[in-house]
Amino acid sequence: MEPLELSAALESSRELRERVERASGVHIEDCYQCGKCSAGCPVAAWMDYTPRQVIRLLQLGLGEEALKSRTPWLCASCQACYTRCPREVNLPRLMEAVRQEARRRGMVNDRKVDIFDRAFLQSVERYGRAHEMGLIIQYNLQSGQPFKDALLAPPLLLKGKISPLPAKIKNVAEVKEIFARVRAKGGDGH
Ligand code: SF4
Ligand code: SF4
Repeated sequence: MEPLELSAALESSRELRERVERASGVHIEDCYQCGKCSAGCPVAAWMDYTPRQVIRLLQLGLGEEALKSRTPWLCASCQACYTRCPREVNLPRLMEAVRQEARRRGMVNDRKVDIFDRAFLQSVERYGRAHEMGLIIQYNLQSGQPFKDALLAPPLLLKGKISPLPAKIKNVAEVKEIFARVRAKGGDGH
């Protein structure tokens, strides 16, 4: 077993914790581990660590484990945990911050979620809304499954549920400005 340099590990976990606290606005110590978030999370069954456990890892200085976890990539930002939390811990924002930090360190746990996330944000930045058809094509090509759900496209097109051409919102420049401000503050440029 590799010798563990405790002081370096502690320093690195402190830095990680500070970064996710700053990015999310969540104070990790606010969580008193009641578990209400995990009990109400609709995707907890598919997570490797429950949402409560992810915060516990950060509290214990085991942030690297949180970064490696699948949980932040599965979080749907549905807010169910946040509305139930008696301590008002904003878990969806914390999950986002952990995901961004993992991406920054090249520790993407679920590549397909990452591809979809980036494609979705690129579409919103470009058009002010998601262009479903472009999103599907980009996601399928980048995830190496070009014909995924291909048979669904014709009926959806015929019924006008998806459009081959993107529709821009009126003030798309304002949306672009929001993205620029996020980047200026150190946010991920997806
Ligand atoms: S509900 Fe809130 S206080 Fe309870 S474990 Fe979850 S985050 Fe912590
Ligand atoms: S926001 Fe994420 S962690 Fe919270 S309940 Fe929804 S999926 Fe679960």
